[in-house]
Amino acid sequence: MRHIAIVGSGPAGYYTAEAAQKRWGDGIRVDIIDRLPVPYGLIRSGVAPDHQSIKAVYRRYEAVNLADNVRFVGNVCVGPDVTIAELATMYDAVVLATGAPHDRKLDIPGGDLPGVVGSAAFVGWYNGHPEFADLDPPLSGPGAVVIGNGNVALDVARILAKSRAEFHGSDISNHAIDALEHSGIVRVSILGRRGPHQIAMTPKELGELGHLERAQPLVDPADLPEVEADALLEPGMRKSVTHLREFAAADATGKPVTLDFDFFAAPVAIEGDGRAERVIVERTALDRDLRSVGTGETYAIPANLVVSAIGYQTPPIEGVPYEHGRGRFANVEGRVLPGLYVVGWARRGPSGTIGTNRPDGYGIVERIAEDWGDAASGGKKGRPALDELLAQRGADVTTFRDWQKIEAAENARAREGSPREKFVRVEDMLAARTQSP
Ligand SMILES: Cc1cc2nc3c(=O)[nH]c(=O)nc-3n(C[C@H](O)[C@H](O)[C@H](O)COP(=O)(O)OP(=O)(O)OC[C@H]3O[C@@H](n4cnc5c(N)ncnc54)[C@H](O)[C@@H]3O)c2cc1C
Repeated sequence: MRHIAIVGSGPAGYYTAEAAQKRWGDGIRVDIIDRLPVPYGLIRSGVAPDHQSIKAVYRRYEAVNLADNVRFVGNVCVGPDVTIAELATMYDAVVLATGAPHDRKLDIPGGDLPGVVGSAAFVGWYNGHPEFADLDPPLSGPGAVVIGNGNVALDVARILAKSRAEFHGSDISNHAIDALEHSGIVRVSILGRRGPHQIAMTPKELGELGHLERAQPLVDPADLPEVEADALLEPGMRKSVTHLREFAAADATGKPVTLDFDFFAAPVAIEGDGRAERVIVERTALDRDLRSVGTGETYAIPANLVVSAIGYQTPPIEGVPYEHGRGRFANVEGRVLPGLYVVGWARRGPSGTIGTNRPDGYGIVERIAEDWGDAASGGKKGRPALDELLAQRGADVTTFRDWQKIEAAENARAREGSPREKFVRVEDMLAARTQSP
């Protein structure tokens, strides 16, 4: 019998567990440890609440957990509650799948003014992550700025623009839908340092903006390259740029909210009297290597909410080598130290889709198998040793059965048309274990 501890229950953690199950069958025991009492990482708290079909992938992870050889160990934070060195004494392999939950810092003057929030915080707020449920972002408007040209920036802009009715069927948290319903924001500027051919937005997400009930996307036709240049783009990008061309060509609809794509626009400062009031933006141009360079021309966009969607970082964990420049654990093809591995966003940084984590998880299991070779089991104790340590420390661990009870309680308290109303406090999650059947 071999024992694997996986730290983090997002997609990367679950694909690794699934691969281990398939590779070793009953010869393996896997513990998936998460700092939250509930599983699934960004599937629960990152993927947009109005994209329920994407979230449905968690059913696959559920199947992994329903087998005896995989166990969920929730409400245990690796670092403060149990260290990596301790896990290494109990498990034959430890796999870090902790994601990249921290925002990259917006390093400009005024970047820390009240009203400036990272997308991890803003997304966590509308998705009911306990760490961000109390964010209370300023929504009085009329202007908001979203910095970034990826899909997260699009999610944020769309959520700010939707009407209450458009959230029907979503699991956006009640505190967020109530606050957004009274939002005074009528202009969301989406800033990108480069141009339409350099976006990292996918066609489906962009296309959605063209069908919003009360908001119209606006693109300045002058920002678009010659249409012939689109032929050089790969097909997905070409579709995305086609959407931008449609937005640029559309007549004004008179909808009350606009989503202004502001390309060639680099934020250089945020100003205001004790809080964000305006973003100072420098017009940019592309150099020969398609890098953005400032032109010296600046202008101000009034905004008291600024959401920076410029990437994420993995927080370091004591004893784990870390690449500070890239904000992730140092590794060679997922190997960190003997017996210690990393997968998912904690390995690659914040890029790719949910599915990108699958080959990552399957790949690391192959590397673990190579490293174990034909050697006899290391004689490590696995589960009983962790349970003993956590009991000594008085940890209040949640099991997968507990999660199922929490989930049933969340489903039962959902507003009409919504699949669930998440608990946003850890203590409420823990209490729900005993409240539902
Ligand atoms: C806003 C947003 C929207 C997205 N939308 C989509 C989409 O629509 N479609 C798509 O394909 N992809 C989407 N993605 C990307 C997708 O969510 C990621 O590819 C994926 O979640 C990364 O998986 P992961 O397992 O590496 O990290 P995560 O999903 O972040 O999981 C990490 C887990 O580790 C736990 N953890 C962290 N630190 C510790 C610790 N010290 N101890 C114990 N546990 C810990 C966390 O609680 C979490 O459960 C989106 C990402 C974001 C940010």
